[in-house]
Amino acid sequence: MNWMEKELELLSDASLERSLHASSSVSGSPGYTVRGEQVLLNLSSNDYLGLSQHAAIMEVMREALLTEAAGSGASRLVTGNRLPYVRLEESLADWQNCEAALVFANGYMANSGVISALIGRGDVVFSDQLNHASIVDGIVLSRAEHARYRHNDMEHLRTLLIKYRDKRRKLIVTDAVFSMDGDQARLHELISLKREYGAMLMVDEAHSGGIYGGRGEGLCHELGLQNDVDIHMGTFSKSFGVYGAYICGSRTLIRWLVNKARPLIYSTALPPSIVAGISKALALVQEENWRRERLYAASRLFRSSLCDAGFNIGASDSPIVPLIVGDNDAALRFSGALEEEGVLAVAIRPPTVPDGTARIRFSLSAVHTDKELTNAVARIHNIGLRLGVLSP
Ligand SMILES: *Cc1c(COP(=O)(O)O)cnc(C)c1O
Repeated sequence: MNWMEKELELLSDASLERSLHASSSVSGSPGYTVRGEQVLLNLSSNDYLGLSQHAAIMEVMREALLTEAAGSGASRLVTGNRLPYVRLEESLADWQNCEAALVFANGYMANSGVISALIGRGDVVFSDQLNHASIVDGIVLSRAEHARYRHNDMEHLRTLLIKYRDKRRKLIVTDAVFSMDGDQARLHELISLKREYGAMLMVDEAHSGGIYGGRGEGLCHELGLQNDVDIHMGTFSKSFGVYGAYICGSRTLIRWLVNKARPLIYSTALPPSIVAGISKALALVQEENWRRERLYAASRLFRSSLCDAGFNIGASDSPIVPLIVGDNDAALRFSGALEEEGVLAVAIRPPTVPDGTARIRFSLSAVHTDKELTNAVARIHNIGLRLGVLSP
């Protein structure tokens, strides 16, 4: 096992070692978190709508726990497919206005399981270079050819579609909103290309579900493109504040996945309390429009203040706001300095982002107030000047 220590030393020397930090929630204040002795403004959580501590969600979860069971006991294909699961999937299909829906234990399992169920040896997947790791792992599992196109570069994608035009099945897959950059996929163009080259299109709405669309359906609905996307994926772990993931599409797609998606077949169904929590969160996501409005306003304020201060926030157009620092060590120091000032915003380094683009990734929530954000920006500004990320 000596090799491990050596490799870890190398990681550490390059400021690339990761470690786990214990944190706990502040009851009644989902916008904050506790680390060590310190209460920090949490600008790193994906709790976009602030639902993670919603009293009604927590109450139905407790109720389900007390009246049903702690665990579901088996895979859904055995005896784990309880009635609330079936009802949840009906509500999901209604919400997304599609034929059918399927719940997975989490987004990682949905992406890895669905991609590897749709394509295999002799096929090809066209995947944006900045797609989430769970998409990449699904492609590796599938054993299909992995054709990575440069981020949002539709000409490069076209070149690859031409190169692989003779492959059996083709799948184009993209994040709707990119998780580390906060910019959007070019969905109109992806749809024309998928038509032109006879490919399937899968869109991951992990960071757009709950946030865009009149009832939080996601970016595809916001743009009126939902009927042109073959496979919709989203999670319940971010905007919904709970845990789990969904796939929406045609009845045939869902029937196929029930037969072929291994993480669904070979893993125990979610516990009843989680399913109950998701169902309640789904109702709230649809009803409580004010959360989306507040999130948009907070994001606009935060992005424009950082830009005015002279920071590089890339092409962010969402509640995910990267502050590109570049150097790994500088990003760590920036994040450390923020923590000393009461703000939690973690540094994101390679391989999560491309080399030379280490950053602080801010993610905003409907529960953050203007005052909290303005105060945070003032501190970010000072640290930026002090560490030389901004020139005076
Ligand atoms: C978070 C995320 C996932 C994984 O979802 P989990 O439910 O956390 O496993 C998948 N895709 C994207 C784009 C994500 O950001």
